Amino acid sequence: MKDFEVFQNIEELDSESKYLVHKAKEATAHAYAPYSKFQVGAALMLDDGTVVTGSNQENASYPLCMCAERVALYTAATLHPGKKMTKLAVVAHKKNHKELTPATSCGACRQVMLEFEHRQNMPMQVIQLAKTNEWILTKGTGSLLPFDFSGENLLAV
Ligand SMILES: [Zn+2]
Repeated sequence: MKDFEVFQNIEELDSESKYLVHKAKEATAHAYAPYSKFQVGAALMLDDGTVVTGSNQENASYPLCMCAERVALYTAATLHPGKKMTKLAVVAHKKNHKELTPATSCGACRQVMLEFEHRQNMPMQVIQLAKTNEWILTKGTGSLLPFDFSGENLLAV
């Protein structure tokens, strides 16, 4: 079953998705990326219409860097407990470039998205710009990380 849609142009996305992409783009202004010069923004829609944004936060100690997606997800979980996460948009651009550059979420972020989806027992859509320069709207996070590791694995022991 195909659980994602591909759009050639951002104008083909629904208005809520376009709005989230816009908010994610705004959030890139708050990125702290002096090392990679790769500014990432994420915008997360909650079930009451609240939008929580995140940006990547780097550190001279590289392993401590945090992705925009996880900043947004953890912020939403902390500031808006109990609200469901319905849709997440992620965009990136190089410093001093206005044009977005393709960037899809890393494996760690996909794992975190999936656990939030399991916790809320409701799919979270994800919008990203793929390397093909096409917008991918995933209907749930499962297709971003098949054969995932979850709490069920721990319970099986
Ligand atoms: Zn990540």
